[in-house]
Amino acid sequence: MRAVDIIAKKRDGGALGSAEIAWFVDGLTSGDIADYQVAAWAMAVLLRGMSDRETIDLTTAMVNSGEVIDLSSLDGRVVDKHSTGGVGDKTTLVVAPVVAAAGLYVAKMSGRGLGFSGGTLDKLESVAGYNVNLGLDAYMRVVSQAGVVVAGQTADLAPADGKLYALRDVTATVPSLPLIASSIMSKKIAGGANAIVLDVKIGRGAFMASIEAARELAEMMIRIGEGVGRRVTAVLSDMNQPLGSAVGNAIEVKEAIATLKGGGPVMFREHCVEVAAEMLLLGEVADNPEAARMRVSELLSGGQAWERFVAWIGAQGGDTGQVENPDRLPSAPIRRQVLANDEGHVAQVDAREVALTAVALGAGREKKGEPIDHCVGVEVLCRVGDSIEAGQPLFVVHAQSEKAAQAATQRLVRSVRLADEAVELLPAVYEVIRR
Ligand code: URA
Repeated sequence: MRAVDIIAKKRDGGALGSAEIAWFVDGLTSGDIADYQVAAWAMAVLLRGMSDRETIDLTTAMVNSGEVIDLSSLDGRVVDKHSTGGVGDKTTLVVAPVVAAAGLYVAKMSGRGLGFSGGTLDKLESVAGYNVNLGLDAYMRVVSQAGVVVAGQTADLAPADGKLYALRDVTATVPSLPLIASSIMSKKIAGGANAIVLDVKIGRGAFMASIEAARELAEMMIRIGEGVGRRVTAVLSDMNQPLGSAVGNAIEVKEAIATLKGGGPVMFREHCVEVAAEMLLLGEVADNPEAARMRVSELLSGGQAWERFVAWIGAQGGDTGQVENPDRLPSAPIRRQVLANDEGHVAQVDAREVALTAVALGAGREKKGEPIDHCVGVEVLCRVGDSIEAGQPLFVVHAQSEKAAQAATQRLVRSVRLADEAVELLPAVYEVIRR
C-alpha cells in the first residue's frame, strides 16, 4: 500500500477499506508515514467524511495502536464517563464516588485544562499529595481499594490518537465529526470500561454550538460503541453558562465537596444526578431512570458518596484532612465582588468569557505544560433567568493581586447581558440518548 493512494482515495470521496485504515494508522503511529501525509489525509477526511464502518475501523485501529487496560480482575462492572469539555465542569469529582458507592467501579483517565476548557487532573491536584501519575499496578490497586481511580492518560494508551490530535490541532482539522468521535472513543475503549456515559456539552462554553451538532456527534459515538461491543449513553447538557458556581481549581473542589455533602448549587447537583443515574443504569444497578435518580440522591444525602470520595482521595495519596476541612485547600489572597451596574433579568452569562477570565487569573493555561495557580478563579453568583437589582453581586473574583482582580472585574461585567423582560431558565440537560 502507499499512503498517497489512500489520501487520493479519500480526497475523491471513496470509502477506505478496513485494511487500508489499519495500515495507515500503523504507519502514522510508527512514523513511517510522514506528518504532511497524515495532515493531508485528515483534511480529506474532514472534507469528505467517513461512513460508520470506516469510523469504527479507525477507532479500532487507534485502540490497537497501544495498550488496552484489562479491568477484568475487578469483581464488578466498570462504568466510565467522558465530558466533551466545559467550564466549571467538576462533575467527575461528584459522580465517580456516587457510582462507586452504588457498587460499580469507575477507572478513569482524565486530562488537563487547555485554553478555555478546564481539566479534572488540575482540579484534583489542588489537594496536596494527590497523585495523577500512576503506573498500571497502582492504578489497579486504587480502583480495587476505593472503587474509584482518576489518573492521567499513559503515553501508551491510543498513541495514534495522540499523534493525530497534535497534527489536527495545527492543520485546522479538529472539527471533523468522525475524527472527534474516533479520538474520544478510542481512549475510552482502550481505558477498559464495559460501559460509557458521554456528557456532550452544548453552547458558548463547548465544542458543539448547537443541539443538532451535539446529537450527531453523540449518535456517532454510540454507534462506535455498539460496533465494538460497549454500551454507550449520551447526556446532552447545557454549557452556555458555567456549570455550577465555581470556575477554577481549588474552588471547584470545594463546590464538589459541598455537593457530596448534600448541598452545592441546585443546577450542578441536578446535572450530577442525571449523569450518575445514567451510569447506574448502564451498570445495571438500577432498573429505570426514576429509580436510578432516587438512588443517586440517597447516596448524596446519606453520606455514602462523601465517604467514598474521602477513601478515593486518600488511596490516591491526597491529604484527606484538607478535603475534610476545605478551608485548608489553597485559597487566594484577594477576593473581590463584582456588582451589577443595572437591574434586569439575566439573559446571558457567557461561559467562554468567564472561563477565559479564570485562565487570565492563572487558573488555566494557554499552552500545554504551563504551570497553573490552584487558588484563583471566579465564583458565578448569577444564572440565566435570575432577576437582578443594581448593586447586587454577580461574581466573586479570587485573585493573587488587586491588579489581576481589577482586570477580571472589567471582563466579567461584559460577560453578563441583562434584558428588560423575563428570561427563561436554561435546563441542565437537553436530552438523553440511550440504546
Ligand atoms: N476531545 C478529544 O479527545 N478528541 C477530539 O478530537 C476532540 C475532543
